[in-house]
Amino acid sequence: MPKTMPKILIPTALRQFTAQHDSVSVTGATVAEALADLTAQFPEIKKNLFNDQGKLRSFVNIYVNDEDIRYLDKEATNLEGAETLSIVPSIAGGTATLAEPVALSNEEVARYSRHLILPEVGMEGQLKLKAAKVALIGAGGLGAPVGLYLAAAGIGRIGIVDFDVVDASNLQRQVIHGTEDIGRKKLDSAADRMQDINPHLIVDKFDTGLTRDNALGILKDYDVVVDGTDNFPTRYLVNDACVILKKPNVYGSIFRFEGQATVFAYEDGPCYRCLYPEPPPPGLVPSCAEGGVLGILPGLIGVIQATETVKIILGIGETLKNRLVLYDALTMRFRELKLRRNTECPVCGDNPTIKELIDYQEFCGLRPPAGQAAASPVVSPKEVKSLLDQRAAFTLLDVREPYEYQICRIPGSLPIPLGELPKRLSELDRNSDIVCQCKSGGRSQKAMDLLLQNGFTRVRNMSGGILAWSDQVDPSVPKY
Ligand SMILES: [Zn+2]
Repeated sequence: MPKTMPKILIPTALRQFTAQHDSVSVTGATVAEALADLTAQFPEIKKNLFNDQGKLRSFVNIYVNDEDIRYLDKEATNLEGAETLSIVPSIAGGTATLAEPVALSNEEVARYSRHLILPEVGMEGQLKLKAAKVALIGAGGLGAPVGLYLAAAGIGRIGIVDFDVVDASNLQRQVIHGTEDIGRKKLDSAADRMQDINPHLIVDKFDTGLTRDNALGILKDYDVVVDGTDNFPTRYLVNDACVILKKPNVYGSIFRFEGQATVFAYEDGPCYRCLYPEPPPPGLVPSCAEGGVLGILPGLIGVIQATETVKIILGIGETLKNRLVLYDALTMRFRELKLRRNTECPVCGDNPTIKELIDYQEFCGLRPPAGQAAASPVVSPKEVKSLLDQRAAFTLLDVREPYEYQICRIPGSLPIPLGELPKRLSELDRNSDIVCQCKSGGRSQKAMDLLLQNGFTRVRNMSGGILAWSDQVDPSVPKY
């Protein structure tokens, strides 16, 4: 059997297991042998690539010379002549229907003149842009450049879905917001900036997270959906909603120095689930809040998303359908991987099993299946951090006294002192998950018991309180 010596390209998220090497030379005649050599050299990577049965995990895709081998007997794939194997894990992202033709005013003709003299756009194309309706999920790092450029390009109507508030730590990359916007709703800040760029733009504001209950209703009125989200539940939700509604899903994702972009659910192309049938387990893939992100990176990926959106609306050029662009800012290299629709895909396959939206928190392992009690009513500070970073829908209830909050508190917590809790139960949502938290875990246990006695069911206690949070999550939180 011929022995070859291919290189395995290691993505950023896995380099912690390969002594920070971005590529590893291996020997082996098949993918299985090459991966076995990799795990022999770096044993720690094994549990991230393979499950307990020794099968490649479903959120890990392997490409040989940029060809997706997922639908082949991948581990037996012969490597003869192959130069590179790429490991591509998930990271935490229909033709436009045109309304009645509209006319451009003289002011618009002047504004769009550089488009109008492009034969590929022209008056007809500019009218298509004006008639187009784009939904933008998230007004954050990716949403910022998408919103700015789509507004400038003359898209007629943009719906923004976002419930967040501008924070100082956003300004390093979310260039649609300014310093004076800190504390404002991103929705308002983004809409004001976009309408300043282009007063002809109509902005629809959806001051909410996208949920199983509202997604189809919100997205059905738009021609193209741009996914600028930063968490797995919303990514799968956007994907499934786009497949069900037959709307193109312009995808982008970013992590540290690397980005991905493509167009899902467009014409006969694949969807996000074709690429990643299942999310990674909670906590395995760090969020940008944990892992960091180069501030400029979402600018570039978002501009790719805006470009694809405009091309889809105009019907020009060649879109990223069936292609995943990988971008590495450190090496300034773009790579492109071929994607294929999976005929067995549970949502866009030939015999789909998912025909309506599901519980995406549960699907992503962020809470136990409905009807089952939580495995344990205790949750660790690290798990709480992960839930906060993924913007999971839950309430972090801080039951300490007001003077204690003034010393330190966990951002995003809801303060209700234990003594006031019995008469303030109406402030809590019985249908949402609640995590109780105090200084060291005693009072929050009492709060949890009180809530359970009052008919709340989805309640857990954060073990060790804010003191454990300081030890395990954020040492800058003072211990008192
Ligand atoms: Zn699919």
